[in-house]
Amino acid sequence: MVNFLIFGPPGSGKGTQSVKLAEKFNLAHLSTGDMLRAEIAAGTELGKKMSSIMSKGELVPDEVVIEMIAHKIDGTKDRAGFLFDGFPRTVAQTSALEKMLNERNMKIDSMLVLEVDHDELVKRLIARADLSGRPDDKDPAVIENRIDVYKDKTEPIINYCRERGIYQPVNGMGNIDDIFARLSGYVTKLVN
Ligand code: ADP
Repeated sequence: MVNFLIFGPPGSGKGTQSVKLAEKFNLAHLSTGDMLRAEIAAGTELGKKMSSIMSKGELVPDEVVIEMIAHKIDGTKDRAGFLFDGFPRTVAQTSALEKMLNERNMKIDSMLVLEVDHDELVKRLIARADLSGRPDDKDPAVIENRIDVYKDKTEPIINYCRERGIYQPVNGMGNIDDIFARLSGYVTKLVN
């Protein structure tokens, strides 16, 4: 198994690129954002609790997402590896993930970081709001908060991964296919 983190601020294209990478390389795509939105759509107790946190652009508690991921890891079969999208988002989530993988004789093999200018991020999220119907895309103040939360809580993971020699920055500007080709180049090196 070869395991990747796809990383980058809100609007950097992680979700779009993850779907394409998962298909091309037979990776299990685990998106905590999608899992949480599925809980909300299903009207579960957990979904109800998490939706107000998410609509403000804050992070849900670490335990919630760690538990979701552990469950999915154990339920996955016949894949070349995992692609973690939107997880980990804190250093605590990162060490929990490392521990989970180690216990199963796996590790994080590479962290692909999509780099996109701030103005471009805001532009993409506002453009997405109409299509996605996501409440956290509609309000410019919530978008700015999500970007701030990313800088504050999530970006420190980059150093953590840099120290482990698995940090791989990728230019996230330009069109979807060009970015996909760049990412595929790095994934191919490890998967084949
Ligand atoms: P984005 O498009 O901002 O990358 P996601 O779809 O990954 O958003 O996540 C949407 C929201 O779900 C986040 O703003 C946060 O509230 C919550 N969320 C998703 N993943 C996590 C996580 N790993 N830890 C805490 N909160 C999370």
